Amino acid sequence: MEVYADIIVDITHEKLDRPFQYRIPEHLAEEVRVGTQVQVPFGNANKIITGYCIGISGKTDFDPVRIKNISSIKEGSTSMESRQIMLADFLKRRYGVTMIQALKTVLPVKQSVQSIVKKTICRAKTLEETQEYYNSIKDKGNQKAKARLLEQLLSRETISQEEVTGKLRIGSSTLKSLEEDGLIKVQRISQYRNPVHMAQGEVANYTLSAEQQYIVDTVTADAKAGVAGKYYIHGITGSGKTAVYIELIAQTLKEGRQAIVLIPEISLTYQTLRRFFGRFGDKVSVMNSTLSQGEKYDQIVRAMKGDIQVIIGPRSALFTPFPNLGLVIMDEEHETSYKSELSPKYHAREVAEEVARISSASLVLGSATPSIEAYYRVQKGDFTLFQLDKRLTGGSLPGVEVVDLREELKDGNRSIFSRSLQEKLKQRLERKEQSILFLNRRGYSGFISCRSCGHVIRCPHCSVSLSQHRDGRLHCHYCGYSVPKVTLCPECGSKYILGFKVGTQQIEEKLKELFPGVRVLRMDADTTRTKDSYERILSAFAKGEADVLVGTQMIVKGHDFPRVTLVGVLAADLSLAFEDFRSGERTFQLLTQAAGRAGRGELPGEVVIQTYQPDHYSVQYAAAQDFTGFYKSEMQYREFMQYPPAGRMMAIQFFGAEEEKVKALAESFAHDLRTWTRGKKIQVLGATQAAIAKLKDTYRYVIYVKAGRLETLILLKNALEEQRIKKHSGQEIVQYDFDPVNMF
Ligand code: ADP
Ligand code: ZN
Ligand code: ZN
Repeated sequence: MEVYADIIVDITHEKLDRPFQYRIPEHLAEEVRVGTQVQVPFGNANKIITGYCIGISGKTDFDPVRIKNISSIKEGSTSMESRQIMLADFLKRRYGVTMIQALKTVLPVKQSVQSIVKKTICRAKTLEETQEYYNSIKDKGNQKAKARLLEQLLSRETISQEEVTGKLRIGSSTLKSLEEDGLIKVQRISQYRNPVHMAQGEVANYTLSAEQQYIVDTVTADAKAGVAGKYYIHGITGSGKTAVYIELIAQTLKEGRQAIVLIPEISLTYQTLRRFFGRFGDKVSVMNSTLSQGEKYDQIVRAMKGDIQVIIGPRSALFTPFPNLGLVIMDEEHETSYKSELSPKYHAREVAEEVARISSASLVLGSATPSIEAYYRVQKGDFTLFQLDKRLTGGSLPGVEVVDLREELKDGNRSIFSRSLQEKLKQRLERKEQSILFLNRRGYSGFISCRSCGHVIRCPHCSVSLSQHRDGRLHCHYCGYSVPKVTLCPECGSKYILGFKVGTQQIEEKLKELFPGVRVLRMDADTTRTKDSYERILSAFAKGEADVLVGTQMIVKGHDFPRVTLVGVLAADLSLAFEDFRSGERTFQLLTQAAGRAGRGELPGEVVIQTYQPDHYSVQYAAAQDFTGFYKSEMQYREFMQYPPAGRMMAIQFFGAEEEKVKALAESFAHDLRTWTRGKKIQVLGATQAAIAKLKDTYRYVIYVKAGRLETLILLKNALEEQRIKKHSGQEIVQYDFDPVNMF
């Protein structure tokens, strides 16, 4: 009987995005399985290319005579499990990429990398026989090298290759001849690269609190009953989430299953890793962007073979092919780095859900500041919610003061520090305590607001702030709406309407003017260019080498600073005015995290939030540390504007070297979309220049589409692709981003 394989060929082109049938020749029948990488002849010229087998069957709809044979198995390939192909299929359907792109994401290291082989030498004969032979040659001048080696093997079982060629200076021809004469054996052990070396042993010696134990018991009982549940742990930093994760992993390993732990790259610090390695030793491994291809490949092989049972890493760790995955943990679930900005533009939270579903594994998300999207799912009952409210490390929650910068201006204070903040900084310097000044500066500067009344100029259609372009006009980055430059506030007539231009460097200078002799450390994109600078600045500050740490959002993560008793947020509004529907959410998260930096030790902490919009709900709820209150207000806005998760959104992103062509393609897409969706409850915004209009000499355009259901957007995307295959042939690239997280 003839057997056929469905092969996805390694060519990224929409026209070829379907399986092609090939015959499995008899000599490969044993080897070709679902997931095997093969070589096949393709096209009229029968060029040999790589492909992935995604299915096998005994029949074909084509004329069997015309079906070509698979040429060979691709050498040195790893083969995928059918579960990984299911996952690739999910990526393809959900994120609108070709199957080959999806397969490459799921199997990130395509080719095997030469593994490190360690050679050791040992005797092949008994001790007596070896001794006898040694005696027979030891005085012969031309057998010195052989004698040197055998002499060693009389007193030792094995010698490493390095020692033989190094210290003993024995060449490969000597080894070969001894091996051929049956006197020695060369053992080859392939070694896997292990990126982290930490010893087991350092196990924390506390018992879990009742709240923590309850979470562990619930998840474990569900898993034992065969219910692979989904859970959310909402708990402030230091409330014991990681301790719960570790116990859950221990329970999972006990059942003979494996665990994936997702941690944002920025939080993968030595301290965090040490806790996992301390408990599980070399059963754990790490996957991150600094690993070499060889190291990544070895982690995959070690996972498949069962050498490791726990993998820790950012989003790519999700694709670790464990044989019996039992648990997926995602810490700091709200982090924007979980969204891939490369195609497929997947969100690790959604993929984690699919990975857990395919393997019937439990899924545990955790954060101090849940994302609106995840919490929406919690509210719908898709996740079981656990709360951890107490800080186990001691220290109390800080007192928060909101300072109205409009009042400061009215009273003649035009400095970047309010009077209250100046006063509190002075106290800290006198008491030799530390302060952190946080400049909330994310996204693109260029928004315009009024210093007198706090008014922010917004798009009337999209309810996000407009930002100023080089031509002086104000633009909306969703729909392209624009207005001329403003010089007077449309709300109060003040002339203090301008962009916010302060940077961390300027803050440092002003601090030194105000407090001569103050020791300042600065942390921003400029001072953290080199690899270790981030850790270096933080540890210098932790050691008390400065009085004040000034920085952007990157300082709200990582290290504990027990001597920090004051956190000042210089302009809370900056992220509020960010031209994105997520700006309220980002602001709440940043303010909450910044506030969490004060009062970690014995000394009580204070937080000062300076803002032009003291009444904004993000500021108010962050000051009150009230997440549920914030969630309700934010959802009202999302519902009203039909932004995710209330509605669904698709960004269609266009890239190209010639602006006219990129624009024309984007406009033709927008035109088609408007024609198809006329009269339906679907909004098409744009086409317009992207927020970053040009990057690396590539022009960027974008269309946003909002609809009630994701499926509607996917159908539109498919229709657009069909149309494109028919009508366009240019070099422009089109990508789809569903429920975008970062501005394009
Ligand atoms: P989170 O992950 O929520 O920030 P951690 O699990 O890191 O919290 O816990 C914070 C600190 O409290 C850690 O130093 C941890 O060792 C300690 N800790 C956690 N659980 C307990 C407990 N039940 N008893 C005492 N200390 C604990
Ligand atoms: Zn005004
Ligand atoms: Zn708009």
